[in-house]
Amino acid sequence: MSLQAIKDAIANEKLICPKCKGAIKGWEKYAETIDAVRDGFNIQEIDSNGERVTLICGNEGCAWKERTEYPLEFSKD
Ligand SMILES: [Zn+2]
Repeated sequence: MSLQAIKDAIANEKLICPKCKGAIKGWEKYAETIDAVRDGFNIQEIDSNGERVTLICGNEGCAWKERTEYPLEFSKD
């Protein structure tokens, strides 16, 4: 899931806070997770296979936020 996809999901209110059931309004600290594998012959494979982002509820009276690699788990679809 790209950062743009996360932004779009938040803008379209598709991600739902599990605590207050309101739409998640913010995010921070997006980062791709990169696995680097080096074998005994000094050949390096780099595989970018995920991303990590902190989702922030942002609704009044709710302090929920969570660091996750699977932001779509909070999708209501
Ligand atoms: Zn909330």
